[in-house]
Amino acid sequence: MASKQITFAGIFFFSWVVILSSFISKSLEAQTAAEPSENFQLQTYLTEEQALALVFPDCDDIATEVITMSHEEKNDLEKLLSRRLYEDGFKVYLGKKDGVIQGYAIITEEIGKFHPFTFIVGVTPKGKIKDIAVLVYRESRGGEIVKKRFLYQFVGKSFKNPIRINKDIINVTGATMSVQYLCAGVRKVLAVINEYYLNGKKAENSATHTNEPAVIPQKTEPIHSANTSQNANNRVARAQKGAEQSKRETGRSEGASSEVKMVKQTRMIMGTFAEVSVYSKDEKTAGQGVEGALNEMERMDRIMSNYKKDSELSQLNKNAAKAPVTCRGELLDVIERSQYYSGLSGGAFDITVSPVVALWGFFREKGRVPSDKEIERVLPAVSYKNIVIQKSADPKKPDTVFFKNTQTQIDLGAIGKGYAVDKALEIIKKYGINNACINLGGNIYVLGTSPGKTAWKIGVQHPRNKEEILGYLELKDEATATSGDYERFFEMNGKRYSHIINPLTGRPVTGTIATTIVAPTGTEVDALSTSLFVLGFEKGLDLVKKFPNVHAMIIYEGNDGKIMVAMTKGFADKFKKTPVKGEDDVKWHVVASN
Ligand code: AMP
Ligand code: MG
Repeated sequence: MASKQITFAGIFFFSWVVILSSFISKSLEAQTAAEPSENFQLQTYLTEEQALALVFPDCDDIATEVITMSHEEKNDLEKLLSRRLYEDGFKVYLGKKDGVIQGYAIITEEIGKFHPFTFIVGVTPKGKIKDIAVLVYRESRGGEIVKKRFLYQFVGKSFKNPIRINKDIINVTGATMSVQYLCAGVRKVLAVINEYYLNGKKAENSATHTNEPAVIPQKTEPIHSANTSQNANNRVARAQKGAEQSKRETGRSEGASSEVKMVKQTRMIMGTFAEVSVYSKDEKTAGQGVEGALNEMERMDRIMSNYKKDSELSQLNKNAAKAPVTCRGELLDVIERSQYYSGLSGGAFDITVSPVVALWGFFREKGRVPSDKEIERVLPAVSYKNIVIQKSADPKKPDTVFFKNTQTQIDLGAIGKGYAVDKALEIIKKYGINNACINLGGNIYVLGTSPGKTAWKIGVQHPRNKEEILGYLELKDEATATSGDYERFFEMNGKRYSHIINPLTGRPVTGTIATTIVAPTGTEVDALSTSLFVLGFEKGLDLVKKFPNVHAMIIYEGNDGKIMVAMTKGFADKFKKTPVKGEDDVKWHVVASN
């Protein structure tokens, strides 16, 4: 039998599910080892900006570059480190003074005992650790590892040092797993910087960063990827991102002025990168808006996460089959909206699909083909009709949710990110901001435009070549998202099994390769991209026709092995095709719809 492997085709902005799954796979195990209640405790020690100021104290410029790894490169790195990596790419910060590189840094995450912690490792141009600090720690125990008196042990070490717990690094009692993963995470950073910037073989020839101008003039427009995996961006796009990031981080534009500035911040939320950029003349308000938007998305994660035991969703999943459970606010709202899309899509979109997703091993990074019997056994639990929402007529009595099947579970992986983007947008608007881009793992909303431009440009990834984009969308005051069979899948006996499941059969959808939606809200694009993926070309278009403001691109397998790209008219109007390699294998057609 061919070897099993879940492949994560997705780079810089990892999809929620990708990372979440790597977190889940550990946290589920950990949870069975009984995570103490109240263990989750968010402790933020440094913002990204503070962390960068710490590792690059004397720099007058901080540029960023994104390394996207091919499969082979990822395999090489995994072999070098003797471990699996959840990342497909890294964002590297380059501290500069008078144009000369003073050091490199990566902000990354590893899981401690139950939850991920975020830390920065700063490295000198000679590859030695200059500084290391924890930005966010999420457990009530093991906090000792954030202390300087523990972290100083790493300073001066380089990739040549093995950095082993109890041998090279003195352990902290009660935080063994965090220390172990910190050691591994530090090695990971050193390996990346070594391989891509210092002595490593890729340092000379990697297309990911060499010869890229560190700063591109502001007049160039930012390109964001419409895909959950941001790797579609070409080198120019990466350099542009670097340029934008560097502008903010260097703080070259001090104080208030009539000049429009960009404030941008990236955080890890819902297991993926959340990035909010704002253009404004008022830098202070822009900063508050960015912070507020990110905080709001974090709040959504605390409500909707199905791997945080204390989230409202986890509590609902635990209890709703026993008796009706009180449900309110955003959780009730997102469940109701999910039900709406389930109804409209004839059950193609279904948030109760998770027991089947679990059967196929997608939550545990271990793809497997379940037997027909196994699927039959859980399939009755999979139906949005098993969710009973009881709205109370009496305002004093709460609304409730009840599951009709004892195995029913809700997973908001196909709608939660888009919903969170909408909530973040509300915050941005409250600050009076008119030009912003909110990107949560490829679920993107663009408000207004970047200065002097008529639209934001958003790259759409080539589904079979992650180094390429098919083209880009020009959007303004709209949202976009993509669902793709390349985001998360495993292959067995030459067959690809993707993470999007047909709820009616309990089996991964075949035939559809990717769907990209443009619509007025994040919730719509997220829910509809998944729905169309399940429905496929013809039925998918029928669904799109029900929404006048929804535009779609559906990429599917043609009979002759060709990649068929269908766009609705409205989509084609916003889309600019770029030349792609192997053009003959791709067949384009515009359909007369919306
Ligand atoms: P997305 O990337 O937004 O298309 O969401 C895909 C994720 O949603 C998967 O990884 C599953 O966790 C979940 N999912 C899979 N199939 C479905 C479906 N038919 N309806 C709703 N959620 C699904
Ligand atoms: Mg979706």
